[in-house]
Amino acid sequence: MHYLDNAATTKPSVACVKAVNHALCENFGNPSSLYRLGIDAEKAINEARENIAAVLGCDMGEIYFTSCATESSNTVIFGAAENFGKRKKKAVTTTVEHPSVAHCFDKLEKAGFEVVRISPDEKGEIKAEEIISAVDENTFLVSCMLVNNETGYILPVSEAFKRIKKKYPECITHCDGVQGFLKIPFKVKSLYADCISLSGHKVHASKGVGALYVKKGVRIAPYIIGGGQEKNFRSGTECVPLISGFGATVKELSLTIDERYKQALELKKYLAEKLESCKGIKLNSKENSSPYIVSVGVENIKAETLLHYLEAREIYVSSGSACSKGKRSSVLESFRIPGKYLDSTIRVSFCEFNTKEDIDALVTEIKKAQNNLAKIKK
Ligand code: PLP
Repeated sequence: MHYLDNAATTKPSVACVKAVNHALCENFGNPSSLYRLGIDAEKAINEARENIAAVLGCDMGEIYFTSCATESSNTVIFGAAENFGKRKKKAVTTTVEHPSVAHCFDKLEKAGFEVVRISPDEKGEIKAEEIISAVDENTFLVSCMLVNNETGYILPVSEAFKRIKKKYPECITHCDGVQGFLKIPFKVKSLYADCISLSGHKVHASKGVGALYVKKGVRIAPYIIGGGQEKNFRSGTECVPLISGFGATVKELSLTIDERYKQALELKKYLAEKLESCKGIKLNSKENSSPYIVSVGVENIKAETLLHYLEAREIYVSSGSACSKGKRSSVLESFRIPGKYLDSTIRVSFCEFNTKEDIDALVTEIKKAQNNLAKIKK
């Protein structure tokens, strides 16, 4: 099998599975309990917190565990609106955000907030200047992702947030860091982000766990209230097994960011070279993009048809993004991908387990699909 859909989800690492198993079988106490079992469970959570904080270059007290990145982003967007909404009514974001961010802003807009969405220019690029100039003293939140999940495009988060924080220190800067975490080296300081959303299952941890960085002193109202866990910021008994697994995989991957980046870059170059020999193929990913995600337009074949053709040969990719589930992607449209590729774009995404053999298999089968499916059409 050739699994090339690592931006959708990844296979849990051995370290993750071991840590999950240990927490389930041995370390099963409630982290809020005051006796040994509880304290051991709390220790495991804090170890994971430390591992994430070390990668982001922040204090462990600034990391909160959630159920997924979607929850992390919902928390920031609705929590910031709740805190600032009476005084400030404007938020700025982009047209290429993941639905977990985009739909929150749609909801805020319906509730009477002004939402400015910055689109890529005619070259398909988002300029920091555009984001900066949309912000004014009435803006309480700017949300911009680091790496786009459909094309791999890297947005100018640092540049935009740096200048926004300088001019409007009260404006909260939020970054969906899901597709960049442990792949593109960044620190909270280099991003100038007040809040960063992260997901476990994109980095070889389990589904069902995410994290949120909130800079000390930044005021976000809690989204889930109850027993007061996570310093009253995110109630609900912490999922010790999944958090432990997340922490274990983060620790392991943090040691190999540079070498994995090089490996992904080599695979991306190899794929691009091999695709050059195919007719009717367009690489949608720009130069300024993550090596982990490659968006490929294949003329005259619907993405879903190609996806299932490849699936039958045990090659797994996704159409546009896993979340778009067959719907035409407004994000690809936003990136100015030509119309003939909008329904015919697949996303190939790597992890360290991929090899050139995976790419050879993919390109061979794309070529066959171009012949076979074209014949069916005739
Ligand atoms: N943000 C981006 C950029 C993503 O790619 C995804 C998942 O596809 C998410 C957020 C949502 O992550 P989760 O599944 O942890 O909610």
